[in-house]
Amino acid sequence: MRYVSTRGRADELGFEEVMLAGLARDGGLYVPKTWPVLADKDLEALAGAAYTEVALAVLAPFVGSDIPESELAELIKDAYATFDTPEVAPLHEIGPDMWVLELFHGPTLAFKDIAMQLLARLMDRALAKRNRRLTIIGATSGDTGGAAIEAFRGREAVDIFILHPKGRVSDVQRRQMTSADEPNVFNIAIEGTFDDCQALVKSLFNDLALRDRLSLAGVNSINWARIMAQTVYYVTSALALGRDHWPASFAVPTGNFGDIFAGYVAAKMGLPVSRLVIATNENDILARTLKTGRYEPQGVRATSSPSMDIQVSSNFERLLFEVSGRDGRRVQAMMEDLGRDGTFELAPSELEQIRRQFRAHRIDEAETAATIAILHEASGYLIDPHTAVGVAAALREQGEEGGPVVVLSTAHPAKFPDAVQRACGAVPPVPDRLAARLSASERYDVMANDVGALARYLEDHARVGAEPGA
Ligand SMILES: *Cc1c(COP(=O)(O)O)cnc(C)c1O
Repeated sequence: MRYVSTRGRADELGFEEVMLAGLARDGGLYVPKTWPVLADKDLEALAGAAYTEVALAVLAPFVGSDIPESELAELIKDAYATFDTPEVAPLHEIGPDMWVLELFHGPTLAFKDIAMQLLARLMDRALAKRNRRLTIIGATSGDTGGAAIEAFRGREAVDIFILHPKGRVSDVQRRQMTSADEPNVFNIAIEGTFDDCQALVKSLFNDLALRDRLSLAGVNSINWARIMAQTVYYVTSALALGRDHWPASFAVPTGNFGDIFAGYVAAKMGLPVSRLVIATNENDILARTLKTGRYEPQGVRATSSPSMDIQVSSNFERLLFEVSGRDGRRVQAMMEDLGRDGTFELAPSELEQIRRQFRAHRIDEAETAATIAILHEASGYLIDPHTAVGVAAALREQGEEGGPVVVLSTAHPAKFPDAVQRACGAVPPVPDRLAARLSASERYDVMANDVGALARYLEDHARVGAEPGA
């Protein structure tokens, strides 16, 4: 499989090079040159198969000849052995024609483990093969950082630097990151918002000399390997529902547009999908864009679902590339407008294509809390605030259009105990694997929102010049 950049001016690369690069050198995001096909008979053959078997079938065409299939199968098995159930992503019925897809059974209790556990193993293998060392730099609104650190801590060939917005991630999220004491882990609290952190990472990547010197790589959801890994559970959940319920809609708590874009990929491959429902909190840039055709970031508001407190949805660029007819120059022009004017306008045909497949619902704080309370009262089932945004959006969508809906549950309620308790009075029980983290001591540095200072910090701490193993 070859990959092309959404801005059309970077070299085509194979899977492993795309994974090691993160962002393309022209500032764009990599997407597969063609969409592999999951034919009806393939889906038929996968009915009843284990998560890891479905994963192999979905992922092998994206990986192509870079990794022999038997080795890929081993990496997949190893990655998902860290989960607390062999189902990996079980479905839980919450009402008529409505299910929650529990994506929080991994080591850090958030859906990002699903991609990150696999990514770390894929990267390790690719680096060992090349006798190379990498410096991973990432921005986190809360869960990515924890999942990335958990996956990469102690790995020989990788140093990992994670920026989080100071005071804007939950206590649990921060402790999951800062309790790692391995010398290859660096946590930095930035005086700013998540979008500031993301902008810092982007400017480091755009400094090509620095990027090469430190061998910088990204693990944010701009990394194609993550999107690919997330495509799998759209397929497994559809298979678990069974054909009687096809095509189902998926309601996805959305921030950076990565998780829901994985659903778009599943549909592109041939999975019957009715609608992809963008569930946003009060940071509703995507809901506004679908309504008006104008993409226009506003100030970020802090909500009870902090992993979605985002106004620049990076992966939306991948969808823009698709609806522009894969026109890199058009995407480049939209991004230039955004940089210069702080906004861009979709063409009518582009907007129409997006609306054909996507819907969007904005859920405010009161409705989020009420949804947690209603579900808890009805069945005793506790959901976290991100999932609650998804459930509320699913209920609206079902009210308007009907049909089966799968809600992606992106975090375990114990990651957001205060918000859950405020909403319904119940305190989510803390799983053992989380409890151990909450009592460990913390280690992190605080820095201003200053790219120069950050670059110096990286140059001082990254071991990229050293031989692997040194
Ligand atoms: C990251 C995250 C999201 C948003 O996912 P995107 O891929 O950025 O849209 C939603 N919920 C939780 C709990 C998350 O950690």
